[in-house]
Amino acid sequence: MIKPLPYFRLFSSCIAVQGNQNSLLFDLERKESYDIPELLCGVLAQLEERTIPETKAHFEHQYDEGIDAYLQEFEKLELGFFTDEPEAFPKLEMIWEDALAIQTAIIEIDDSDAYDVLSVLDQLDHLACAALQLRILKAIPLQVLQSFLAATQASRLRSIELFLPDGAYSESELIALKEVHQRIALLVVHSSPQQKVVDLPEGEDKIFFVQKELTAAAKDYVSPDNFVLDVKLFSEAHHYNVALNRKVSIDHKGFIKNYPSHEKTYGQVSTNKIAEMVQSTAFQEKWLIPNDQIIKCQDCPHRYTCSFNSDLKVEENKWTKIDDCGFDPYTNQWKKI
Ligand code: SF4
Repeated sequence: MIKPLPYFRLFSSCIAVQGNQNSLLFDLERKESYDIPELLCGVLAQLEERTIPETKAHFEHQYDEGIDAYLQEFEKLELGFFTDEPEAFPKLEMIWEDALAIQTAIIEIDDSDAYDVLSVLDQLDHLACAALQLRILKAIPLQVLQSFLAATQASRLRSIELFLPDGAYSESELIALKEVHQRIALLVVHSSPQQKVVDLPEGEDKIFFVQKELTAAAKDYVSPDNFVLDVKLFSEAHHYNVALNRKVSIDHKGFIKNYPSHEKTYGQVSTNKIAEMVQSTAFQEKWLIPNDQIIKCQDCPHRYTCSFNSDLKVEENKWTKIDDCGFDPYTNQWKKI
């Protein structure tokens, strides 16, 4: 008779997160999550240190059948495996490093000449910014838009998300923009009378038309659909506020912010250099506040996958998010915001 293997290990990208009312087991490679009982989180924690028989004994054999059933199910779902060499399978280390001062920038542009957008793009290139979200709130001439995109062509930007108002450009102009500027990873037309997706003639690219209007200082929203299941972000979220870390926003008036909807500003691009502002301790303060240090979020099972962009404030010596995300980890319920 074959002796059962004494240890159980989850694959390194499969990680359980305990919340106040609900716990989740994430498979970060396959981008799946599974609801699991809180008690099972405790069992999985014990299994990291003990054999299966020792774990069952630790719980005074109250849950032997349940433990066996769950471990077999996890093996079937390819979330983990039985082994007699646990030391050969170390846990994923939650390390996150990035040399870039700024990874992502959001630029809001309306139809006014509030600031020099080309200068902003040049400054972001000097910061080696890798990703840009260009939010055009109101119609600007096509030539002006083209000049902004042309300025990004020789830059170190790797991807651009472009939001444009409906009615400003024809579909053929939009298709041409997407074809000329291969770095446009996402093209969204906001304030559209109808929700639709237009496929580009070649390849798998699309243009998304959405009814929602994109306004200045638009607030972020959060839903189970926009949680990001990714090893890099999961690791970053253990140390940083992933919604704000290494990001800079220039609002429609040229004010430098952590995020466009935040009230707090850190200078204005007409008088301040972006590099000086983003390297200041004040600008970076909120980068260093992970969800584990924020009231309510620290009890939420989504805390390492959620990028809710709310500003933060200190209340009774504790960090809290100013805006309501709509999720209550104490009831495990979502409300409509
Ligand atoms: S913002 Fe809401 S959903 Fe996100 S971690 Fe905090 S409580 Fe959870």
